[in-house]
Amino acid sequence: MAKVNEDKTNELEQAHLDFISTVSHELRTPLTSIRGFADTLLLSYDKISPEQREKFLHIIKDQSNRLIKLVENLLTVSKMQSDKELMVYKAVDAVPLVDNCIQIVKLQYKTHNYICNYDKNLPKILVDTDKFQQIMINLLDNASKYSPEGSNVYVNISQNYEDNTLNISVKDEGIGISEENLSKIFNKFSRIDSPLTRKIQGNGLGLYITKTLVEKMNGKISVQSGEKGSVFTVVFHGANPDDEVLKKIKE
Ligand code: ADP
Repeated sequence: MAKVNEDKTNELEQAHLDFISTVSHELRTPLTSIRGFADTLLLSYDKISPEQREKFLHIIKDQSNRLIKLVENLLTVSKMQSDKELMVYKAVDAVPLVDNCIQIVKLQYKTHNYICNYDKNLPKILVDTDKFQQIMINLLDNASKYSPEGSNVYVNISQNYEDNTLNISVKDEGIGISEENLSKIFNKFSRIDSPLTRKIQGNGLGLYITKTLVEKMNGKISVQSGEKGSVFTVVFHGANPDDEVLKKIKE
């Protein structure tokens, strides 16, 4: 018994050390780049052309954004792992929330076309609206960043009458995910390393966060993909007046 506990402790310690090492690496890469370009600007300002200066400042800004995104994701992971995180459930219409997320993502991916197809008279779903929007933004953001400029992103919302569930899918025309990588993409810090993904920024936490949040809200997430295009589908139960959480909200 004592041996089992010791093994478990060693495993946890190792996981903790791996986590610190990955985070440190993820922090060091953009920080080194920011310091390098700031140094060059400070030391050789007059020797470099205005175009070069602007290029360096853009790199500093991009790398700072990368750091901010990483820190935000790490905070989300840490909150998700502590049991103290409060979920604020509400019965809500998915459509305006999804539309709002599309508007937010569109600001960054101006050339993509977001094509929506929603069933009529959809049931409400019982979710934490902030977390639901975080899920949708992650999926829409990935669909846009892993697909070419000007391509289409299809967002479908349909009802499954048999089990009163709502299926929300986000389909892209992008680089796709190979069969062997499909099982890895939901792991913490998992990024697919290929010539196509290397140029695209990310920290491999988005889908881990997405899956954890979906499952915390009793939903399911799945993915279908191949050589071209991917479809991510999340399924949530339609809100039912008998839902325990809903009953508590009303009390
Ligand atoms: P990242 O910050 O790297 O985008 P994610 O956790 O969101 O992290 O995704 C993990 C990996 O899954 C990505 O690095 C990418 O290789 C792959 N991936 C996610 N979404 C898509 C998509 N829509 N099309 C192709 N590859 C994707």
